[in-house]
Amino acid sequence: MDTKEILTRVREDNVRFISLQFVDVVGTVKSVDIPVEQLEGALENGVWFDGSSVEGFARIQESDMHLHVDPDTYAVLPWTPTDMRRARFFCDIYQPDGTPFPGDPRGTLKRILAKLREERGWVYNVGPEPEFFLFRRNGPETIRPVPHDVVGYFDFSSDDEAVRVRTELMAALKSMGLEVEVGHHEVALGQHEIDFRFADALRTADNVLTLKYTVKAIAAQHGLIASFMPKPIFGINGSGMHCHQSLFDLQGNNLFFDPNDEFHLSSVAYGFIAGQLAHARALAAIVAPTVNSYKRLVPGYEAPVYICWAQINRSALIRIPRYTAGQHKATRAELRFPDPSANPYLAFTAMLVAGLDGIDSQTPCPPPLNNVNVYELNHEEREEMGIRELPGSLYEALQELDRDEVIKGAFDPILYQAYRRAKLTEWDEFRIQVTDWELARFLETV
Ligand code: GLU
Ligand code: MG
Ligand code: MG
Repeated sequence: MDTKEILTRVREDNVRFISLQFVDVVGTVKSVDIPVEQLEGALENGVWFDGSSVEGFARIQESDMHLHVDPDTYAVLPWTPTDMRRARFFCDIYQPDGTPFPGDPRGTLKRILAKLREERGWVYNVGPEPEFFLFRRNGPETIRPVPHDVVGYFDFSSDDEAVRVRTELMAALKSMGLEVEVGHHEVALGQHEIDFRFADALRTADNVLTLKYTVKAIAAQHGLIASFMPKPIFGINGSGMHCHQSLFDLQGNNLFFDPNDEFHLSSVAYGFIAGQLAHARALAAIVAPTVNSYKRLVPGYEAPVYICWAQINRSALIRIPRYTAGQHKATRAELRFPDPSANPYLAFTAMLVAGLDGIDSQTPCPPPLNNVNVYELNHEEREEMGIRELPGSLYEALQELDRDEVIKGAFDPILYQAYRRAKLTEWDEFRIQVTDWELARFLETV
C-alpha cells in the first residue's frame, strides 16, 4: 500500500491511534504511539525515538534511533475499543546516519532473506505451531496459575469457555491478516495451539508476534492469562513452537521436493537438515532461549532431547511429515525444539544460516531414525550411533553458541553481544535462586 491508500484505509477503519512496533533483542515488542494525524508524516519521514532504554540498543553516544514504517504490516488491533481504535505497523530501525541499525532483530532477518533472494534466488518459508496455555488466576492471593478448562487433546465441549476464547482468537487473527489453518486443544490441560499458513520467514516472524500479543490481549478481556512460557507446569507437556520449513525458488517451486527420493527429499533438503542437526547445540541458545526452555526439552513430553531426524518419530529433533501425493509444496522439515519464548526474527535467521551451511559445506546427512525409539537407547548405544543430546541448560547452550562461528556469524557483533549479555544475566539470576524443590529435598535431610 502507498501512503494515500494507507490513509484511506485508516479513515475507513476509524483508526485513532497508531502503534509503531519493533522488538528488542530478546523479542519483547516495543511501541512508539502516535495519534493518527501524525501518520502521514511518519510514513514519509519515519519517527525518531530514544533507544537507550531498550534492551540491546543502549549505546551511550548514539541513543537516537529512527523508525522506518513497513507499510505492508498494517493491521487494526481488533480488541481496542471502537472509539479508541488502534492499528499497528512493524518498523525497521535505522541509525542517525541513515544506515540500518545492526542491532535490529527484524532488520537482521530482512537483510539475510534479501541476500538469499538476490544471491541464490531462494525464499525461506516457515510455518510455525505456537502452543500456549490459558490460565485463570486461582484467587487474588495466589499467583500460581491453575489450568482453567477440563478437556484434553482435541476434545470438544460446546460449552467450554476455552473453546469460545479460542474461536474469538481465531477470528481476531484472521481479521489481522493471518491465514489461520487450525486451532485445537493440545495434550496438556489448558493447553492450546493455533496454526497459521506458512509464509516467507519475515512475514511469519511478524505473525508470531501478532499471534502472541493478540492471544494475550483477548485472553485478558476474559479474565484469563495466556502464557507462552515453554514449561509452565512440571509433570505435563510444555509449549513448543515447531517450525515447518522449506526453501522455494522465485517461481514457487519447492526446492526440498524430489519425486525420486524415498522420503521425497532433495539434496537441498538433506543438506539443510544436516546443517541444522550439526549446529543444533548452538542453535538451541536462540530457538530455546530461556532458562525455562530447558525444562521442556526433557524425555517424556513430546519435546525433543536427542539430535536426530525421522519421518514419523515425534521424539526426533527434525520430523519429515509424510508426503501426500501431489502435495509437492508441502514437502518440509519440521524443526521441533523451538519454543514460543524465542525472538522469532533471531530464531529464523539462525535456523536459516544453519541449514544453508549444511548445504554449502555438504555436511553429510545421518540416516533417519524411523524405527528406533531413541529414549529407549542407553547412553552407550546412543554414542555408538553418534546421537548427541541437546544442551541441558541455557548456560550450556550459550557456551555452544560462543563456539559456533556459523550461528554466531549470522548476527552483527553488536546484536550478538547484546543478546549474550541479556541471556547470561538471566542465567545468573536464575542460578542463585533457592527453589521449592531444594527446600523439600534438603531442608530437613542434610
Ligand atoms: N507440546 C509438545 C512440545 O513441547 C508438542 C506436542 C505436539 O506434537 O504437538 O513440543
Ligand atoms: Mg502441537
Ligand atoms: Mg508439530
